[in-house]
Amino acid sequence: MMEKALEILKRYFGYTQFRDGQQKVIESLLQGTDTLAIMPTGAGKSLAYQIPSLLFKGTTLVISPLISLMKDQVDALLEYGVPATFINSSLSPNEVRARINRAADGEFKLLYVAPERLESESFRVLLESLNISFLAIDEAHCVSQWGHDFRPSYLQLGPFIKSLPKKPLIGAFTATATEGVQSDIVRLLELEQPNIFVTGFDRPNLTFFTLRGENKRVFVLEYVQKNANQSGIIYAGTRKEVDSLQEFLVKNGLKAGKYHAGMNDEDRQKSQEEFLFDERTVMVATNAFGMGIDKSNVRYVIHYNMPKNMEAYYQEAGRAGRDGDPGECLLLFSSQDVVLQRYLIEQSVFQPERKMNEFKKLQGMVEYCHTPRCLRKTILEYFNEENVQEKCGNCSNCNDDREMIDITVEAQKIFSCIYRMRERFGIGMVAEVLKGSRKAKILELRFDELSTHGIMSKVPLQEIKDRINYLVAENYLQLSSSEYPVVGLLPIALSVLKGEVKVTQRISRKSSNEKVEEISLFDSLRVLRRKLALQENLPPYMIFADTTLREMAQVCPKDKRTLIRISGVGERKLEKYGDQFLEEIRNFLGDEQGISIAKSQSQPSEPLDIQADCDRSLGISNSEKRSKGKISSHIQTFQLYQQGYSLKDIAKVRNMTILTVQDHLVRCFQEGHEVPWDDFIPFEHESLILEAVGKVGSGKLRPIKDLLSDEVEWFTIRAVLEKHKL
Ligand code: ADP
Ligand code: MG
Ligand code: ZN
Repeated sequence: MMEKALEILKRYFGYTQFRDGQQKVIESLLQGTDTLAIMPTGAGKSLAYQIPSLLFKGTTLVISPLISLMKDQVDALLEYGVPATFINSSLSPNEVRARINRAADGEFKLLYVAPERLESESFRVLLESLNISFLAIDEAHCVSQWGHDFRPSYLQLGPFIKSLPKKPLIGAFTATATEGVQSDIVRLLELEQPNIFVTGFDRPNLTFFTLRGENKRVFVLEYVQKNANQSGIIYAGTRKEVDSLQEFLVKNGLKAGKYHAGMNDEDRQKSQEEFLFDERTVMVATNAFGMGIDKSNVRYVIHYNMPKNMEAYYQEAGRAGRDGDPGECLLLFSSQDVVLQRYLIEQSVFQPERKMNEFKKLQGMVEYCHTPRCLRKTILEYFNEENVQEKCGNCSNCNDDREMIDITVEAQKIFSCIYRMRERFGIGMVAEVLKGSRKAKILELRFDELSTHGIMSKVPLQEIKDRINYLVAENYLQLSSSEYPVVGLLPIALSVLKGEVKVTQRISRKSSNEKVEEISLFDSLRVLRRKLALQENLPPYMIFADTTLREMAQVCPKDKRTLIRISGVGERKLEKYGDQFLEEIRNFLGDEQGISIAKSQSQPSEPLDIQADCDRSLGISNSEKRSKGKISSHIQTFQLYQQGYSLKDIAKVRNMTILTVQDHLVRCFQEGHEVPWDDFIPFEHESLILEAVGKVGSGKLRPIKDLLSDEVEWFTIRAVLEKHKL
C-alpha cells in the first residue's frame, strides 16, 4: 500500500519522499486505524489525508473550519489534478445536490464540508447517497474548549459520526499538542483506539528572533521596507493597533493589507485575497487571521505584540516558511503587552483553575521573550521535546552579533529622575522631565527644579522613551497595571544607582533577511509565475511554490524529463506549465535581455522620503544640502524636532514664529510623516478636548478653546484634532 501512496505523491504532487510524520500517519490510516496526527504548521498535514483518500474506495469527507478558504484548498487540489470539490453555504441547493451526485458517481474523491453544514438535517439526508469511507477532520483542536480556536459547530461532529449507517475511518489533524486538547479530540470525536502521532515540533527553516524595548514602529517600517518584495504577516494585539499600523505602512508607500474581526465579511475576503495573490505583500492582522491559510511563501511573521501563550505563538509564527524555504519569526516584546494579556485573561476567564493555567502559560511566554538561552530549545522544550541540542545556531540568541554597549550612566539618570518624581508618573512624563521640557504641567509640579530636569536634553525625546521601555522590558523598572501605567523602580534599579550593577544593551539589530538583491533566474521565474497566476486567477504559490522555483533556478532543467524531477512538479503541472517555464529558463540562459526585464519588474518599492530625510544628519552644510537636492522647509523643521529640539528652539534657530513651526508639523503629518502628537498633549487635556469637540464639533478651534480653561494651549487642541483625524 505504501508504494502506491508514494507513487501518488510523485505523480500528482511531484514530491519525491514523505516527510517523517506523514509516512507514519499515512501508514496508520491505510491500515484502517483511527489516527490523531499532531504536526506543526507547515509539516504537511493536508497530504497526510489527501493521499489516503485517493487510495480508498468511496468518498472522503474533509471537515475544515473556514468556509472562505475551502475554495482555495480545492483549487490547489485541482491544480494537482486531484478530483475534489467543496460544499458550503455559498452554493444553491441544486448545486449542492449536483455535487453530491457527482461524488456518489465517483467523480470527486474529496468533498470539503464546513462543520456548520452537518447541523442541517436535509444535508445529512443528502449525504446518505454517499459511501463515506473516510472522514478527515482538519484543525481538529477546534472541537476543544481548551484550545484557542474553539468552534461550537465542531461539537456536531460526534453526533454526526454516530448518525452514519457505517462508522467511517477517522483521521484528526491539528498543530496543537496540549494534553487537554488531545484528550478532548479523542473523546469528542469518538476515535476508536486511535494511533496518536506527535511529530517533532522543530521547524529548522525558521529563524527566531526576540527583540525587547525596540521602537516598534520604526523597526517594523525598516524591516518591511527591506523585505518589500516578500510576503509577510504582522500580528498585532488589538483591532485598533492593526488599523493604525496598517495605515502607517500604507502611508509610507508599502503594500499593506489588514484583517480583523471588526471588518465586514466582504472587506476581509478582499483583503485576504489580495494577500494570497501577492497583490499586497504584508498583512497586518489580529489573530483572527491565518488559520487554514495555506499560503506557502510567507517569508516572515512579526509579532508586534506578545501573544498570550506559546501555543498561539508557535502556531502563528509557524505560518512562515511552509514551503521549507527560510522564514523569519520576530517577536517584539514590550511590557505593556503583558499588562494587556493579563487584563484579557482577567476579563475572559472566570473559572479559577483555568485562570491559573492561563497565567502560567502567559508566564511561559514572557520567559521566552527574556531568555538568554537558545530560542528554539526553549520552544521545543516547552512542547516537551526531549534531547534537544543546546544551541541551534539559528536564532537571535545563538547568533547574537550585535554590539553590547554600557548604558549604566543613562540608566542611572533615568532611575534617579523616576525616584525624584516619586514614582508617580508614566513613561512620557519622565522622558519629558529628562528632556528638560517646560510644559505647563511640568512647571506646575515644579519638576523643572529637579536636578534631573534636562539632564538628557541632547537625546531625542523618542529615544529617551525607548530607553525607558527597554529598562522596563529588562526588569529594572515596572509598570503599574492601571489604565495610565505609572513607572516605578524595582530593587535592582537601586543597586544600579549605587553603582553595584551595570546595565548593558545590545544595539543594531540587522536581521539576516537583508539579502543582496541580485538579478536571478528565480526572479524571472517569479515574474512568469505571476503572469500565469493572473491568467488562471489563482494565487501564485498555487502554480508553483517558491521552493520549486528556486530549485528550477538552480538546476536549470532543459527538457520535461529533467523538469519533472524538480520537487513540486507533478504530471499535471508539467503538462500545463512545463513548456512556458522551460522557455523562460532557456531565454534567461541565452539572452541578456531577459535578465533586465525580470529585474525591472521585481524591484523593491521606492525608498521612502521620510527615511531619506531622517538619514541626512542635521550637521550637513548648506552646500552639501544643495548637492543632495533641496529639503523642503517643513521637513527641515520636522528633522530638527526629531533631533530633539523643542519647538521654541526651532523657531529661534530657523528664525520663524512658533506658529510657522507648528504649521510645519501639521503639514508633515498630512504628508504621511509620523508626528508624535502625544508630545504636545498633556494626557489630562486630551479627554477634555475630545469632550469639547463632542459638544461643538471640530470645524473651528475657537469654540473648543472657549469651552476649556486657559491652561489648554491652542496647539494642544490642534494636536488632538490631528491625532484623532477630526
Ligand atoms: P500543514 O497543514 O501541516 O500546516 P500543509 O499541508 O499546508 O501543512 O503543507 C505545507 C507545505 O508543505 C505545502 O506547500 C505542501 O505542498 C508541502 N509539502 C507537504 N508534503 C511534502 C513533501 N512530502 N515533500 C515536499 N513538500 C511537501
Ligand atoms: Mg493545514
Ligand atoms: Zn538557537
